[in-house]
Amino acid sequence: MPKAQETLVEINLTDLKHNFDYLKSKIKPDTKFLAVVKAFAYGSDAIKIAQSLESYGVDYFAVAYVKEGVALRDAGIKSPILVLHPQPVNFKLLIERCLEPSLYSAKVLKEFIKIAESENQTNYPVHIKFNTGLNRLGFWENDISHIMSELNSTQSIKVVSVFSHLAASEDLDEKDFTHAQIESFQKISAEINDQLDHDPMLHLCNTSGILNYPQAHLDMVRSGIGLYGFGNSIKENEFLRPIATLKTVISQIHKIEKGESVGYNRAFISPNFKKTATLPLGHADGLARQYGHGNGFVTINNQKAPIIGNVCMDMIMVDISHIDCKEGDEVIVFGAQSSAEDLAARINSISYELITAISQRVKRVFVN
Ligand SMILES: *Cc1c(COP(=O)(O)O)cnc(C)c1O
Repeated sequence: MPKAQETLVEINLTDLKHNFDYLKSKIKPDTKFLAVVKAFAYGSDAIKIAQSLESYGVDYFAVAYVKEGVALRDAGIKSPILVLHPQPVNFKLLIERCLEPSLYSAKVLKEFIKIAESENQTNYPVHIKFNTGLNRLGFWENDISHIMSELNSTQSIKVVSVFSHLAASEDLDEKDFTHAQIESFQKISAEINDQLDHDPMLHLCNTSGILNYPQAHLDMVRSGIGLYGFGNSIKENEFLRPIATLKTVISQIHKIEKGESVGYNRAFISPNFKKTATLPLGHADGLARQYGHGNGFVTINNQKAPIIGNVCMDMIMVDISHIDCKEGDEVIVFGAQSSAEDLAARINSISYELITAISQRVKRVFVN
């Protein structure tokens, strides 16, 4: 691999395939696999990731918003795309681009039917989302009769799946809660199934659900973070490979005397002679200010360099007093060895937040 000469995210598609194969090995051959590619495929690159996964044989995609689904269609993605959190203002566009809405409340169900009818649709594929304990989005069990009366009043839509979302599938201290969610979903889905004239797909598991609750895989599973290389547990992380490596370079090296300060608001005052390196990456690139003041670190020539002082918009300064390095050398912010999960943990955050925060101004490069 050529050394980075600017800030970039290197995305390893071989590792993506490895993660996909590992997750597939956890499900039955006839269980469908939905890849969650929302938020630029968790901060990597939605289009390249979706194209790759489509070629590996993924069954379905999901995004959060309509705009994200439109970008996939523009790039030629042909697989079905579930939009998890569509807003009625975009329903017409959603239909034009053959995206499939999650309908999660009486209001969105009614508004979707209205638009589907005005667009002369019949049996337009929709997904009904139930709340089983996350208390975020979803119908409640006692909404079923309302849903059925709306469905029976129109030919415009067809329920292709019924689903819910687990609140704590990665947290083994919450097993009882998760089991209750699984049971609740089984009850709700059986009840609505009885009233429909066909069998919609049922799905409930996210990545940690796939790994921890094999009895709940049902007809399809939905994986995001696992595809990108994180298993939300030390044990599962061993089997997965982070696909993204955030790299940068040393722009300039400074020699700082005892008592001199570094960066805005003089947040770092040097206790002794130090060497610092300035790197072209800051909070506008997704590296939160909380990583300053020694909380975060980068890796240079396999050694840790703490981030000193305040994180600037476009730069950070790191302490390289103990590291043999020079201007132009490559720097690893996170990757396979020094993981995004470990770095995020330094500020009480999680891999999801750090990897999805990497801004669109950072170049993405792909390796095989
Ligand atoms: C984001 C999301 C997922 C993916 O969760 P991971 O933990 O990343 O696997 C699955 N389902 C829904 C409804 C989501 O919002």
